[in-house]
Formats: sequence, C-alpha cells, structure tokens
Amino acid sequence: TMDRIAFIGLGTMGSRMSRRLVAAGFEIVGFDPVEAARAELVAAGGRAAVTAAEAVSGVGYVILMLPSSRVVEAVLGDAALLDALKPGTPVIDMSSSEPESTRKLASALAERGIPLLDAPVSGGVKGAEAGTLTIMAGGPEDALAAVRPILAPLGKVRHVGETGAGHAVKAINNLLAATNLLAAAEGVAAGRRFGVDPGVIVETINAASGRSAATELKFPQNILPETYDSGFALALMLKDMRIATEMARSVGVPATLGEQAVELWSRAAAELDPAADQTDIARWVDRSRNP
Ligand code: NAD
Repeated sequence: TMDRIAFIGLGTMGSRMSRRLVAAGFEIVGFDPVEAARAELVAAGGRAAVTAAEAVSGVGYVILMLPSSRVVEAVLGDAALLDALKPGTPVIDMSSSEPESTRKLASALAERGIPLLDAPVSGGVKGAEAGTLTIMAGGPEDALAAVRPILAPLGKVRHVGETGAGHAVKAINNLLAATNLLAAAEGVAAGRRFGVDPGVIVETINAASGRSAATELKFPQNILPETYDSGFALALMLKDMRIATEMARSVGVPATLGEQAVELWSRAAAELDPAADQTDIARWVDRSRNP
C-alpha cells in the first residue's frame, strides 16, 4: 500500500500531477465529481473511485488538489472518509488553502493519528506537466521526510515552516504575482495608448528593473498573443489574494496596496465571465476601466 496514492481533485492541476505520479510508477486511485476527469485518469493508467472515501481506503498517502479550503474541509470532514483512512496515513493538501483552516484541520486529524501537511505549488499547468513545480511545504520535518518520495516527481520541495506556513507563503506569493500583473497591465496599457508598441514595452522592461513574472511570462505567453490562456482562473487568484490580505490583517500588518489590488480584482471578477483567466485582468484594465 506504500506505493498506492489517493489523489482527490483531478482538475487543471490535479489531472497533470496525478499523471506524473502514474508515470513515476505509483498506483494512483483518483476521485473527482467530474466524470470526464476520472475517465482521463483511467486513460492515463490510474484507477478511479466513485467516492473520496473509496479512493483513500488501503492507500499509503492521500493528496488533495481542490479549489479552496471550503472544499478541503468538506472532504476531510466526511465521516466515511475518516473511517476509511488508516491511522498514520499522511494527508498532503497541495491546494492553495487558508493557513488558519489548515492548522485547525491538522489538529483535528492529529487526534485520529493522521498527519496533515500543507504543500501548495507554484509553476502552473506547465510546471505540473513537467514536474518542475515549486512545492512550499509546511509541517513537522519527520512527516515531510515520509512524503518526499511522492513529491519528488512533482517538483522541488522547500520546507518553509510549521503547519500552515506553506499555505501562508503560497498566498503571499500569489498576492505579489497578482499585484505585479495588475501594475504591469496598467503600465503597458498607458504606454500603448501613448503610442509605444506593447511588445517593445515588455521586451524593454524585461531588460530593465520593472520586470517580473508578469512581464517575463504572462505578457509574452498569454496577453500579447491575446490568448488569455494561462490555465489559472481569475477567481482562484482573487481567492488567494484574499487569503493573503486576511492573514496580514490577522497579524496586524496593514497590507494597504494588497487591499487595493483585491478591490480592483473583485471588480474585474464581477464584470468578467466567471471562467475568466487571471491574464484577463490585462484586458479588463485596458478596455473596461479606461474606455
Ligand atoms: P480546478 O478547478 O481546475 O480543479 C479543481 C478540481 O477539484 C475540479 O476538477 C473539481 O471538480 C474538483 N472537486 C471539487 N470538489 C471536489 C470534491 N468534493 N472532491 C473531489 N474533487 C472535487 O482548479 P486547479 O486550477 O486545478 O487548482 C486547484 C488548486 O490549486 C486551487 O487551490 C488553485 O488555487 C491551486 N493552483 C492552481 C494553479 C493553476 O495554474 N491552475 C497553480 C497553482 C495552484
């Protein structure tokens, strides 16, 4: 059973990550309420379960790759699933969840002898496919050591602190990524209307001090070609920004710029399609706010 992993949440990221684990020789039992997602795993050489509880029975590890803490809480609060988990089985939440929720879940699971680790990721769809994710792990060193072999095919692990620390760092990372992206979108929109070619603006900034992942990756790959297809939903980014600003507030740091970014991204989310990509923020900045 130590070679068997339950993988719960087979969406944009989970489908690719579970496929890498299959390729690395692990036996994957996956669950997702979306039938097509389960079928995709089976086609890739994994097994599909009809419920999350069925997926976890008899496995050595459980990985979660779910939309939010609300869903993680629902999955880990399910009595059938808890009964099916062998004591000692590590549960790894790789979703971008809320650090406070993670701490509460970890102490509830600890009472049943189940270690919960947070191990959210950065690197997107490409990183998930290539196994080059940056994995930000939180939890006790010994629990992390036990799961390193199953994280290795997914990316590089950085142990950032105790339980919840991984989720905290991930939220801070995304608040920065979103703020940088919004700032770059405003700058490029202004430069374009002033008459400078947007491609030239981005190339020049990438050889200068204003560069960031927004100008180095998102503009060249998804915004300038007008494909808006980074594979990360604008709504999920907004969720992460709120996690970071709420965390800052809870520890007494006035994240004024972050709060302002949340305000602007919320307006964009309300005006754009619910399925909008994070890179659609650039379209929103250039068209809707300054018509
Ligand atoms: P997604 O919406 O594509 O996938 C989530 C999956 O969870 C869906 O397939 C959904 O059907 C499934 N799900 C919902 N409820 C479930 C339940 N009760 N049991 C099992 N499965 C359930 O999202 P995603 O882009 O794969 O992101 C997953 C997580 O990773 C999020 O927290 C996101 O913020 C984070 N993340 C995403 C990216 C990215 O580039 N897409 C990058 C880093 C981190």
